[in-house]
Amino acid sequence: MLAELSPALIAEVERAAKLLASKQRICVLTGAGISAESGIPTFRDKQTGLWENYAAEDLATPEAFARDPKLVWSWYQWRRQLVADKKPNPAHDALAQWQQHAAKSGQRLTLITQNVDDLHEQAGSRVTHLHGNLWQNRCSQCNTPYDNGSGMEENSKRDVSFNEDLLTCQHCGDYIRPDIVWFGEALPVEAWRAAEDAAANCEAFISIGTSSLVYPAAGLAQLAKQNGAKIIEINPHPTPNTIVDITLAEKAGVVMPLLIQKILGRVEHS
Ligand code: NAD
Ligand code: ZN
Repeated sequence: MLAELSPALIAEVERAAKLLASKQRICVLTGAGISAESGIPTFRDKQTGLWENYAAEDLATPEAFARDPKLVWSWYQWRRQLVADKKPNPAHDALAQWQQHAAKSGQRLTLITQNVDDLHEQAGSRVTHLHGNLWQNRCSQCNTPYDNGSGMEENSKRDVSFNEDLLTCQHCGDYIRPDIVWFGEALPVEAWRAAEDAAANCEAFISIGTSSLVYPAAGLAQLAKQNGAKIIEINPHPTPNTIVDITLAEKAGVVMPLLIQKILGRVEHS
């Protein structure tokens, strides 16, 4: 794997590891790019098959659901099917390994994701979801969580069927929707508060696989910077972000294992 990386990139990974090993409070924000190597397309990727003529940005909105609930529900059922068998990749695994290690070494590592998949959890991480969870449903009118049949308040993907028929709320009769934050909607208050707190109080902020275009999540790096944190970005197509201190322009699944290996080596020997 090392052979794939240029000497210049390896030097930057070394610089990032040195910086991160010297910090106590670290905030990590992940976006769709970290799950791309697991086979889950980002929203910038062109959609395939039945959905190739639709842009994700035109389906993941409350207006789209109000206009054509069946279309949006069918798209989510298709996405759920696409994501159901996907597994964490080396980037998720490396982050989970670092998080477990941090708990023992005294580093405080807060992981925040814009993703709605559960690959961080599958890898063993504790994570705050800013944009909801692909495996939960709720009423589009009264917000009551929809019981997918498990009888549990927290549904898991095992309880979700991929049937494309619309479901209705047991309380008010309106349509059931995925419990996901769509474009133009507010973020969950608790999750956002935790994210802002971690960003404002960290010494280093790492943005992995996010185009930094979707606000307010994209503002977290700015908040960290204003409070004196160093900013590291991991993205094969770095974003036009002038606040970044170190850019690792490579796929997360390639560069993260090396970065974490170097951080843990330094933390252990310090
Ligand atoms: P985005 O689609 O706008 O951008 C993805 C970014 O990842 C791009 O900058 C791209 O260059 C980068 N990238 C691609 N492959 C990568 C790799 N292997 N390693 C590192 N980076 C890589 O995604 P976004 O900024 O997260 O915003 C879109 C929103 O859509 C998200 O907030 C999320 O809610 C939702 N979404 C979620 C998923 C998921 O849960 N897996 C997938 C698609 C979209
Ligand atoms: Zn209802």
